[in-house]
Amino acid sequence: MGFPEANHDYMGAVTLKNVSKIYNNIPVVDDLSFEIKSGEMFGLLGPNGAGKSTTIRMTIALTRATDGEIIVAGYNVRQRPDLVRRSIGVVLQQTSVDADLTVWENLEFHGRMHHIPVRDRQQRIDRGLEYVELGDRRKDLVKTLSGGMKRRLQIARALLHDPQILFLDEPTVGLDPQNRRRLWEIIRDLNRQGMTVLLTSHYMEEVEFLCDRIGIMDGGKLIELGTLAELKNKYGEGLAIEQQGDRLESKFFPTLETANTYLESLPNKIGITIRESNLEDIFVKLTGRDLDE
Ligand code: ADP
Repeated sequence: MGFPEANHDYMGAVTLKNVSKIYNNIPVVDDLSFEIKSGEMFGLLGPNGAGKSTTIRMTIALTRATDGEIIVAGYNVRQRPDLVRRSIGVVLQQTSVDADLTVWENLEFHGRMHHIPVRDRQQRIDRGLEYVELGDRRKDLVKTLSGGMKRRLQIARALLHDPQILFLDEPTVGLDPQNRRRLWEIIRDLNRQGMTVLLTSHYMEEVEFLCDRIGIMDGGKLIELGTLAELKNKYGEGLAIEQQGDRLESKFFPTLETANTYLESLPNKIGITIRESNLEDIFVKLTGRDLDE
């Protein structure tokens, strides 16, 4: 993209350096640093209150970081929020589509806001609605759409001005499994076409299914970062789960085989299950709690 003043020293699509946000003297994001590569699908995973939304809101220039530096698409968010906004598409839970407008009007309005010329605009709206399979609902009021359709419309809107990077804050929260799957396919397809994606989620399967790399946040800090394979390699691919009173105790092993060898070695094998570890096991080990609040 040829906007002026982009700092192309930054190879990553998104860079956060020592970023903090303080609300009421409490750091809700605390000295956060990470980089998202161009074309990457990056997932921020964490329980409610971990600081994921605040991180996204600072990165998309909706709220100012108290400290640190954020670069998006080559632009410093503090200095050029306008150019950052032009380079990104955003799907937030709060800024939902306007229920009293039609599907088409919602996109038309967004297209005008972004000064997309009229002919181009119509083509893009058509293409976008086709892409998210809402072409036959274009004249319908948004309030008549299902939750899944509204979310797809939000995605079409976020893509209308041809962004380089897409930000999705809890994109499938509240959707049934079928609609969630459908959205995953769309997000995955966009990424395969080259779109860089930052998404937040507290759904383990979502992050496992979609993301190239996973950052785990807790208490405003990034407590782990890596691919799923790297994380499994680090914490162990095999797991022994043992009933201890009314609790389940998990013990990691480097491989499934070593976990099985451990089981074999026990005189009493009752109540012990062996299986492959997953992201949720790693999350629970790291934070001491699971995500189903
Ligand atoms: P997450 O998205 O991981 O659930 P958030 O970023 O929404 O986490 O919130 C992190 C913490 O910051 C929470 O404790 C929340 O109450 C607090 N917080 C978020 N926004 C504000 C705000 N505008 N004013 C004060 N506190 C806030």
